[in-house]
Amino acid sequence: MWYFKSPEVVFGEDSLSHLQQIEGSRAFIVTDPTLALLGVAGHIEGLLQEAGFATELFAEVEPEPSLQTVRRGAECALAFAPDWIIGLGGGSPMDAAKAIWAMYERPELDATDINPMTNLNFSKARMIAIPTTSGTGSEATWAVVLTDTEEKRKFSTGSREIVPTIAIVDPSLTTKLPPRITADTGLDALTHAVEGYVCSWSNDFSDGLCLKAAQLVFAYLERAYTDGENDVEARDKMGVAATIAGLGFGNSNLGLAHAMGHSFGAHFKKPHGRCVSLFLPYVTEFSINGGAGRYGDIARFVGLTTDSDEEAGGRLLVQRMRDLESAVAQPQSIASFEIAPADFEDALERLCDHAEQDTQFFTAPRIPEREELEKLFQYVYEGRPIDF
Ligand code: NAD
Repeated sequence: MWYFKSPEVVFGEDSLSHLQQIEGSRAFIVTDPTLALLGVAGHIEGLLQEAGFATELFAEVEPEPSLQTVRRGAECALAFAPDWIIGLGGGSPMDAAKAIWAMYERPELDATDINPMTNLNFSKARMIAIPTTSGTGSEATWAVVLTDTEEKRKFSTGSREIVPTIAIVDPSLTTKLPPRITADTGLDALTHAVEGYVCSWSNDFSDGLCLKAAQLVFAYLERAYTDGENDVEARDKMGVAATIAGLGFGNSNLGLAHAMGHSFGAHFKKPHGRCVSLFLPYVTEFSINGGAGRYGDIARFVGLTTDSDEEAGGRLLVQRMRDLESAVAQPQSIASFEIAPADFEDALERLCDHAEQDTQFFTAPRIPEREELEKLFQYVYEGRPIDF
């Protein structure tokens, strides 16, 4: 038995006007300090107030949100007693909003208690997710990723009940997204699409979503990166790609690029999308070398080949990933993150432990043995193509 979960998705230009049609009285907006400073949070607050809502802003979410932040947010939500929780921002505020929603509904729970078996029984509030980056797809998934700052590790969990009620994907919110964040988040969406398609939990419902998302990222990311302030079509398509990829991987799972990327990003404090996409071409090569994965399908769907040779198609896909990463000036080795060899060697055991413990490790199309995992990290450090 399997489930397909999706929020109601409102997308395209002017989709924010949907906020005027929401029925309710008290909206608790979870966002980050930058979006408050840029006036984005104020704009959403204004639209809700015009629709008759009393609002409260919790603008304290940091990138890669911590357990401490969501605990504080849940206390504020309990004091305000909203009937809607609004997650406004990139994956960080949206994930924080999901955890706050769960802890508001079930105050006896901590964020660390949320898991697919927890019965959340939401009854006090519903949730709207409004992405301001085009990457994580958190607006459409049941996943929550938080960071345990003491342990220096990411902690991914979720529940089918935690999928937002409504996702509003409006391109006007991403036009001013800086190119670096556009690249990081857009490549995150590509990593979701590819891993969602090749992982061992892929299924007939998720497949089409993942393929379409990969096609959109290859077609529009470079445009959004180069001229995102003026190219509304590229912004719109990247927003759609991220949400579709979220629906795709959210209803299948992910793989090794995420397991390694989470581990690396939490240890060295690097942005999520930059980390998972760093590993994507390497783990794709590793899978192809072992005859695993369905990468040739993706290569054919995005127009790289018409040939049915799976391995040749997969290798063309790896090259296309690397070309796109170059076009958006993405670092392609761990060394290019300016991490000294000694610091990397010191961290290697821990990086492998945390990658192996990641919930996405076991659904990779080819699961490495411990020595292979270490070697993979070392090759990515040096930027060497995978030959094993
Ligand atoms: P983010 O939310 O951390 O934001 C990155 C930076 O971009 C922040 O400084 C933010 O203020 C800024 N920003 C956001 N929107 C902006 C805008 N429109 N204009 C200018 N600046 C803007 O980044 P992210 O990559 O979207 O999210 C990463 C988080 O999402 C990580 O914690 C990751 O683990 C998580 N994640 C969750 C899921 C899921 O399904 N729940 C999936 C993937 C990643």
